[in-house]
Amino acid sequence: MGEEAPEHLLNSLDGHLPVACDSESKDYQTSTIVDDKTYVVEGSEDGGKSWINVKIFDNLTRSWLIPTVLGMKPVQLKGHSTLLLNNGRILIVKKDYPLDDCIWFLEVDTPFVKEQKKLLGTEVVAWSKGVIGSAPKPIVISGPSGVGKGTLINKLMKEFPSKYGFSVSHTTRAPREKELDGVHYHFTERSLMEKDIRDGKFLEFASVHGNLYGTSIEAVEAVTDSGKRCILDIDVQGARSVRASSLDAIFIFICPPSFEELEERLRARATETEEQVQKRLRNARAELDEGRSPGLFDHILVNDDLETCYETLKKLLASDENANTLNQPTTKNLKVHVSHMESRADQKILLHCGTNGTGVKVPSLFMLDISSLKGGAPGRTRGLNVYTVESLRDGVNRIKQL
Ligand code: ADP
Ligand code: 5GP
Repeated sequence: MGEEAPEHLLNSLDGHLPVACDSESKDYQTSTIVDDKTYVVEGSEDGGKSWINVKIFDNLTRSWLIPTVLGMKPVQLKGHSTLLLNNGRILIVKKDYPLDDCIWFLEVDTPFVKEQKKLLGTEVVAWSKGVIGSAPKPIVISGPSGVGKGTLINKLMKEFPSKYGFSVSHTTRAPREKELDGVHYHFTERSLMEKDIRDGKFLEFASVHGNLYGTSIEAVEAVTDSGKRCILDIDVQGARSVRASSLDAIFIFICPPSFEELEERLRARATETEEQVQKRLRNARAELDEGRSPGLFDHILVNDDLETCYETLKKLLASDENANTLNQPTTKNLKVHVSHMESRADQKILLHCGTNGTGVKVPSLFMLDISSLKGGAPGRTRGLNVYTVESLRDGVNRIKQL
């Protein structure tokens, strides 16, 4: 049953500016009109029991709609400012947070949200954290079981521990000897994993050799947030799903020199029962065919001699290396208190800041460039560029990239 929007709320809806919040009770609420709907973001920071909620007021039927909320939402808000962008996103800037943790997007009409609305049959909104700069592209590695994916990945991680990080998947299969929970996999129960999948926590998942495997959004973002390049070891179905997602990755398929050699490696590893080996070998034939399907993988490597294959892998990763780094220390200590935002026609947004109460002097005007956004829900939104704007004499501004 819908509920009418309170009159004071409807009167104050202007589509762009935040509605004043009750600073005494630390409650906050903003309303943003998008076509026939008003998106209300509200919450409280009450005695550690903080909550954030999104609801939608349908201005045609004059009733409240409770949307399915996907993506990772901000852990805390002490108030925020909103601005409707013209690409189905509402920009949400948290108050009194460092610049690298204050820019968020609430997607209300992006392709991802549209697709989820169709799938779920409900209203959908999706949170996505904004990240300044671009992260290096994650690396998806696929190939049949026993081909040597794990061996190659381990070599990379060992040689470049500060450069590459492994995306720890979830699986319902039992741990092998020496496999550690949270390191090799998050070993989990099917019902729990299915619930998390329904709650939109997974970037991709697939049934592989009779068990459920999946990459959580958190697994990829944890690696990327640490400034490392994320490596995903997933099957071909998973690679296909990631290709279709908003994650901009590089896709590598590893082939064995022959089917006989694959069988030999799988048996020599001695980690599976005979029945499981048979199942993995049956699936390998289909995977080898799939791996060659046009447009799915960017590179196909044959793992014949391990060292030769490893050198080729390193070379192709180096040539694809993205010069941008994710963590920009200059933004970490800039705690900003955005008082209002102004949109310019050229995809630049001016963030006007008041004093942040910390006593540390920060610039009062920033410019946010959103012309090169990448990614988005259910993961992070990257490609944001931030500049400080300093007023000099005679109306001249000095603009400096952070
Ligand atoms: P995957 O992760 O693809 O299932 P693994 O990395 O576990 O495969 O490798 C399977 C087995 O094959 C392991 O015992 C590993 O030591 C061995 N192996 C990996 N690459 C080679 C290679 N190029 N030549 C011979 N054996 C290999
Ligand atoms: P294993 O049981 O040998 O560790 O893995 C079996 C297969 O599952 C491998 O092909 C591996 O790439 C794949 N796999 C591991 N994690 C994931 C995941 O998160 N998603 C998908 N789709 N496949 C995965």
